[in-house]
Amino acid sequence: MPTAWFNALPRMPEPMQPPLHPGTREPIGPDDLAPLFPMALIEQEMSTALEIEIPGEVIDILRLWRPTPLVRAERLERALGTPARIYFKDESQSPAGSHKTNTSVAQAFYNKQSGAKRLTTETGAGQWGTALSFACAQFDLECKVYMVRTSFDSKPYRRVLMETWGAECVPSPVDDPSSPGSLGLAISDAVRDAVSREDSHYALGSVLNHVLLHQTIIGLEAKDQLAMAGEERPDVVIAPCGGGSNLGGVTLPFMEDAAVRLVAVEPTSCPTLTKGNFEYDFGDTAGMTPLMEMYTLGHDFMPPDIHAGGLRYHGDSPIISALVKAGRMEAVAYPQGKVFEAARQFATVEGRVPAPETAHGIRAAIDEALACKESGEEKVILFNYSGHGFLDLAAYDDFNHGHLLDA
Ligand SMILES: *Cc1c(COP(=O)(O)O)cnc(C)c1O
Repeated sequence: MPTAWFNALPRMPEPMQPPLHPGTREPIGPDDLAPLFPMALIEQEMSTALEIEIPGEVIDILRLWRPTPLVRAERLERALGTPARIYFKDESQSPAGSHKTNTSVAQAFYNKQSGAKRLTTETGAGQWGTALSFACAQFDLECKVYMVRTSFDSKPYRRVLMETWGAECVPSPVDDPSSPGSLGLAISDAVRDAVSREDSHYALGSVLNHVLLHQTIIGLEAKDQLAMAGEERPDVVIAPCGGGSNLGGVTLPFMEDAAVRLVAVEPTSCPTLTKGNFEYDFGDTAGMTPLMEMYTLGHDFMPPDIHAGGLRYHGDSPIISALVKAGRMEAVAYPQGKVFEAARQFATVEGRVPAPETAHGIRAAIDEALACKESGEEKVILFNYSGHGFLDLAAYDDFNHGHLLDA
């Protein structure tokens, strides 16, 4: 297992613009963030160190499931008849079933160390809420999760997981039971709660620099594992993009090798990178968070109720946004019908049932492999298997019976 995270900030093609205070619109300093985050995470958010050491206590917990396997999808290669070699990094093996525990454990550790007793957060379909609940249980922290109301009502199983790990989970927005909710609204609820209590901090599961930093353990491990498999480098690295954390995690350790293409995959119904504007915007709907320069659909964007709940955020990580803006990273969008076709093909030949978010990356990886079939190129394709789909079977049921909207 790697012993240090890979920091993208000092390696960006162009310097990044600072976050701005939501009131004054002046660049924010560490003190502005102190009501929300412990100082260690605020330092990581702005750090220019090339690497940051992973604390031993964090490594001890990550060892429960890390290093995760790098798998060659040989059966998929054969089914497609492609000369490409397809590898995926299996982040579904974590206790919560996705990559999100890579950062939830680190964030819980630094919060515990700072003396916080309680963490608040938001969750969409529930992946981040479960990941943080698990991490808080490891460090004996209280955890309160504001869950987007449509998911709270329609997807009870992740709430049950959160409660099993000792967290409290309530529907958001709290003050409007008639609203279906959105991630932006749930962030506002969680931030409002954290700033109102002395014993509480707030934790965000994606977007921020320190979150992507913690996720780089994915790409660092994959790099070593590809070398063990006899591959010099991947030709292309692919991942789904909601806020950008699993994408950053798998791609950033390859960012300085110009021979490696980096590809973000998003839904056409929430096309932040492919159709959004690159500008300063709030992270939440109420305009309480700092403004960040990023691709955004507008902080009041209400995403349609597609199945890939983790990909329904109006903005994107400033690091990912800057890489796309600079031309270092590509972005593609797919409608969910095409995504579920790929998910079922993958499940049929490889056996594993991916999360709908994950299936976006699989769609793009299959299309890369089919292009290699046309051109005869033996490319090495790496994609991130960000999570399993065992708690998303209702979406498969809709697809299998022709009820899924191809939006
Ligand atoms: C949350 C989630 C995503 C999207 O979030 P990112 O921060 O963009 O990684 C993708 N896949 C799975 C399985 C998720 O749970």
